[in-house]
Amino acid sequence: MKAAVLLEVGKPFEIREVQLDTPQPHEVVVKVKASGLCHSDLHTMKTDFGWPMPAVLGHEFAGIVESIGSEVTAVKVGDHVVGNLISACGDCPDCRGGRPTKCTNPGAIRRAEGDAPRLTMDGQAIAQIGDLGGFAEKALVHERNLVVIDDDIALDRAALLGCAVITGAGATKNAAKVRFGDTVAVIGCGGVGLNVVQGAAIAGARRVIALDLQPAKLELARKFGATDVINSGEEKDVVGRVREIVGKNGVDHAFEVIGLPQTVRQAIDLTDVGGAAYVIGKMKPGTGAELTSDELLRGQKSLHGVFMGSTIADVDIPLYADLYRQGRLNLDDLVAETISLEQINEGYTKLEKGETARSVIVFD
Ligand SMILES: [Zn+2]
Ligand SMILES: [Zn+2]
Repeated sequence: MKAAVLLEVGKPFEIREVQLDTPQPHEVVVKVKASGLCHSDLHTMKTDFGWPMPAVLGHEFAGIVESIGSEVTAVKVGDHVVGNLISACGDCPDCRGGRPTKCTNPGAIRRAEGDAPRLTMDGQAIAQIGDLGGFAEKALVHERNLVVIDDDIALDRAALLGCAVITGAGATKNAAKVRFGDTVAVIGCGGVGLNVVQGAAIAGARRVIALDLQPAKLELARKFGATDVINSGEEKDVVGRVREIVGKNGVDHAFEVIGLPQTVRQAIDLTDVGGAAYVIGKMKPGTGAELTSDELLRGQKSLHGVFMGSTIADVDIPLYADLYRQGRLNLDDLVAETISLEQINEGYTKLEKGETARSVIVFD
């Protein structure tokens, strides 16, 4: 099968012929129909996080089950599925307690050391980032890395449920638990940020303030439920403007969806007394942000890291699919364009320039 392979960090993708092993008892072969281009793949391409290379990236895909291993029960041939990048054993205390993003034994659903690799290229092992590897015509994954969705959801939309939606909307629903009447600020309105915006809007936030440098993204944020937008490149006093909008010292929840120390700082500055800042953006290893004693004590502020929207994929992905079907969750405007696998490098160049919300690769 054809796959977009990243041979080493800092290089563009190359379209290569990759071989798939036969499925083990709990593994599934999925015919990939659509695969979203996410910012974290871009980080993986540009920054060495120590991931094994060469690798097939792509952790936001939807497709149709083609074949299953002898003991698979979660899916059957023909099912429409979304990739679930939260690898979790299902058995440890955290998994059983409904916190799969804290799973202590995700290796349980990967192949054992010494087993043949799932993917190879001319005999060489190829890694699957996120245990998925969606930038390929087919994906060989563990059954726990898939969630079944109803057949009536278009797969080029459903793909986005796998990362952008669960990460963004999940942060509002599962981590911040935004309530009716709360006030929210969202810094960075890419694919994930727009889903923070719509998660907050669906929860009934009184004000959802979107911040970005790109006017086009701010316009888009309004479509996703932003009540107010601020161009942080033009506005001299962002904190003052937010205070003016909410009529107090800041918002209840400020989400950082970029991954830079200065925007994490800004998120803290935007919160009211007792407010909380949430870091969703992927920061460079070794960088961070801190709260001052004043902010902690009199300010009663807190700073949270949110990983994958604290999602329980089997619960949340069908929920978001249902909200989409009802017209209450917007996926259509997230897809800026559909492209072919061969156009993947151009797609990432656009994403890097911040021009589009999401490009989605579609396969015939
Ligand atoms: Zn992602
Ligand atoms: Zn577990």
